[in-house]
Amino acid sequence: MGRKRLNLLNEKFERLTVIEDCGNKKGFSMWKCKCSCGNIITTKGVYLKNGHTKSCGCINSERIVKRNKELMIDDIPRVKNRIYRIYWGMKERCYNIKNHNYKYYGKRGIYICDEWLNDFKAFEQWSIENGYSDELSIDRINNDGCYSPENCRWATTSMQNANKRHKLD
Ligand SMILES: [Zn+2]
Repeated sequence: MGRKRLNLLNEKFERLTVIEDCGNKKGFSMWKCKCSCGNIITTKGVYLKNGHTKSCGCINSERIVKRNKELMIDDIPRVKNRIYRIYWGMKERCYNIKNHNYKYYGKRGIYICDEWLNDFKAFEQWSIENGYSDELSIDRINNDGCYSPENCRWATTSMQNANKRHKLD
């Protein structure tokens, strides 16, 4: 080969510790590693050196579990939660410049208070404590004000129409 073979024995690569030299396979040096989660894998030295392999695969599975968790609220897919859909709609109107209603909201300076923006649960809790029901929509009391506990209520469509010329929330 001419190239000097790296000795990776006992070296650590993120969660992996190299525990055995497995020789060469198809020109690649192979190393047996023990993952911090307890699994044993064999991988190419080059993958360890370039950061391609950082765990037995448990980092990726944790990421998938986390991602799936983010899509759930109390074990129910969040898209099935009406309050979540309303929350998502608010965010879209206020922050997504590609949303067709953005011009009436984000562009006019309508925003979501930090408490709600950073935490759907805070919005959900406020909703339940403030008369949320499935027939009602979120209504901003002052049409030029933001989405916040002080400026919002759950209202019927007719209440909303009475409150503003332009019903969009
Ligand atoms: Zn692992």
